[in-house]
Amino acid sequence: MESLIKSENFLENILEKFLVETSGKLPAYIPELSKARPESFAISIVTVEGKILQAGDIKTFFTIQSIAKPLVHGLALETHGREKILNMVGLEPTGDSYNSIRLQPGSHRPYNPMVNAGALALSSLIPGENPELRFHTLQNLFERYIGHVPNFDEQVYQSEKKFGNHNRAMGYLMLNFKVLQGDVEEILDDYCKECSFLVNTTDLALIGATLANGGKNPLTQKQAIDPEYLADILSVMFTCGMYDFAGEWAYKVGIPAKSGVSGGILGVVPGKMGIGVYSPLLDSRGNSVRGIKVFQELAEILQFNIFKSS
Ligand code: GLU
Repeated sequence: MESLIKSENFLENILEKFLVETSGKLPAYIPELSKARPESFAISIVTVEGKILQAGDIKTFFTIQSIAKPLVHGLALETHGREKILNMVGLEPTGDSYNSIRLQPGSHRPYNPMVNAGALALSSLIPGENPELRFHTLQNLFERYIGHVPNFDEQVYQSEKKFGNHNRAMGYLMLNFKVLQGDVEEILDDYCKECSFLVNTTDLALIGATLANGGKNPLTQKQAIDPEYLADILSVMFTCGMYDFAGEWAYKVGIPAKSGVSGGILGVVPGKMGIGVYSPLLDSRGNSVRGIKVFQELAEILQFNIFKSS
């Protein structure tokens, strides 16, 4: 694996191979996201030693969307402790789409922290007495993982809020079942904000490398997340991070990952590296078409599937 990563054109060759893949669609349900350049394509790897490899449109920034969910899950665990979070949100994959309105029978908890319902519930726990302080908490959270405060996309945030009735409905449903407490409009507002920070693939790879490195950012050497909670986050990413493709992903790629509707995928190879891929054309489940192919290729070449020992 090490020698391949050292070879000059390793990522360029993979990028080249999948440039011909142009299937998929831009997401239309958040109108602002449909303005992305469909041809954009970038891949980055950051190792736990801090080596950076990148190829393609690495200067293209996109909103983090659902890839913020593992970070907010970690924040909730650190702030409120495991017991409270487990009481609030389950650990089961839904086998359903990311915005499924279904809650767990009996408890009415959301199925897991990686689907919108679970992320909304955890967004109600973001520390801060007012929206400005909570925004600041989010900026600090991202800064710990990527080494700087990321820019914020006001247009995407407004678009998400305006067209967010599905998430709004879920918020009220959970309020009804007392799974969530507080002002649903404020919680939705915080949730839309956490989805609207701008990252590139190297930022994603660095988040991954931090999660792969005992929670310590390999470039800044700052601890981003208490290692106590890493297995909580990574196991849920593994079983629930790729929407209703999570089972196939586990079988074919075999690492914890999280996908977002803007076309990014974050992968974590524990103890080794983080990987970020971006290409905004999505398949019917909301995953980047090229992103899936790149990860399958990387899993073959780098042999990182955690179930395959070589
Ligand atoms: N902001 C998006 C939504 O709530 C996030 C979805 C995603 O990336 O999976 O619909």
